[in-house]
Amino acid sequence: MVLVHVENGGKGSSSREKWGQSLSRVFAPGTAHAGEVEWVEKDVESLLGQPAVSREKEEKTELIDAAVYDRLRPISFPRKIELSATALLHYDTCPRRFYYEYLEKMPQVEPEPIGEGLYQISPAALGTYIHKVLELMENAPLQTALDMALEELEEPEKERKLFRQTGEVLVQRYCQSPLYQELLSFEKEREKQFQLPFYKKGRDQVSFTGRMDLLVHLSENTLAIVDYKTGHPPVDGEEKQGYRRQLLLYSLAAEAQYPDKKVVWAGLDFLQNNTRYLLENREGELEKLEQLLEHLLRLETESNFLVRTAACPYCPFAYFCPKK
Ligand code: SF4
Repeated sequence: MVLVHVENGGKGSSSREKWGQSLSRVFAPGTAHAGEVEWVEKDVESLLGQPAVSREKEEKTELIDAAVYDRLRPISFPRKIELSATALLHYDTCPRRFYYEYLEKMPQVEPEPIGEGLYQISPAALGTYIHKVLELMENAPLQTALDMALEELEEPEKERKLFRQTGEVLVQRYCQSPLYQELLSFEKEREKQFQLPFYKKGRDQVSFTGRMDLLVHLSENTLAIVDYKTGHPPVDGEEKQGYRRQLLLYSLAAEAQYPDKKVVWAGLDFLQNNTRYLLENREGELEKLEQLLEHLLRLETESNFLVRTAACPYCPFAYFCPKK
């Protein structure tokens, strides 16, 4: 790839970083990614095979009457934003991360796994593995499910052993707990997908997509929802807020799919300590979510999205983000 950096003197340009400038910054000599590219400086004339001509000299200046200019309004395009049910958890962690991931859809670079023991494997991959084991256990015994789920992992062979050991301990403990046992006799649907049109204001729309780990049919007209979590159980603060939003969306989605049924409880089961975190005050959560989306739709540029640097070491956009 040839990156041609042309200075235009800043005429008509915003203060927003251009993609070429971003590349230069991310891979600049002296940075962590410097070794991944080879910088060769060339002058523009040697690339074009002819003298470089400034366009500015060719452009004619058109004058617009001040009264006409005043009547001009910026064009706004309708936005249709589709978010995963967990997307707003990332907004809580760092609004800028949310911007890179869901609005700019930038590629992610997972930070290196750190620590020892369990933490030598990626927590996200462990979560995927355990979800798969629990899904397979619908039709297979635990040991078979543990082996079958391993086959779908893309992790290196040497790490698979650790996935299996850790997965077995967590799943076995969970299956023996009352949380799992009390739902055994009910009809269940696993990995239930949904698409939920949620918020509309003017020409902007937000919809949520997702997958509930477990939809339980408690009776002819009542439902319950369980989502498995392999990370740490909630601590006070905004993370809990994110969990409540997730459960709210699952409840609304389940009721949209079964209009004659009501979700009587929705909970997150934390496999690390076999506790269930339940959604409370659903109406209040609904109001808060609508307010948040209204606020989000007003934000447009990168700098509108604040940075929260506490999570930078675990952020897949740390390679790019200027953190300011
Ligand atoms: S690197 Fe830090 S500040 Fe930047 S998006 Fe990630 S968490 Fe936010």
